[in-house]
Amino acid sequence: MDNLNTGQKFKFICPKCKHTELEEVTVAAVVSTIVTGISDDNYLEYEGVSIDDGTIDRYQCSNCGYAIKKYRKNITESGELIEWLAKQPYNKSKKGGDST
Ligand SMILES: [Zn+2]
Repeated sequence: MDNLNTGQKFKFICPKCKHTELEEVTVAAVVSTIVTGISDDNYLEYEGVSIDDGTIDRYQCSNCGYAIKKYRKNITESGELIEWLAKQPYNKSKKGGDST
């Protein structure tokens, strides 16, 4: 079954460089932060960041920028990403926990 369990941490291994961090890239998002004061060197200080709207552009390796594709197009939906991850041999579930 090509399915990952919910609540499970998946693995990602970049097909290109073997890096293991995957990032979601969102474009056209609205980012807002609360301005709280002025720093010693005369810059504004901020607290908290909230990100609204935006569209997922791609999921990519955080090291080399390799974007995950389906039918040669970048995957832009979490469901498709989960499907892709579930198909990778290193995520094929074995029963029992492996917590590394
Ligand atoms: Zn990579």
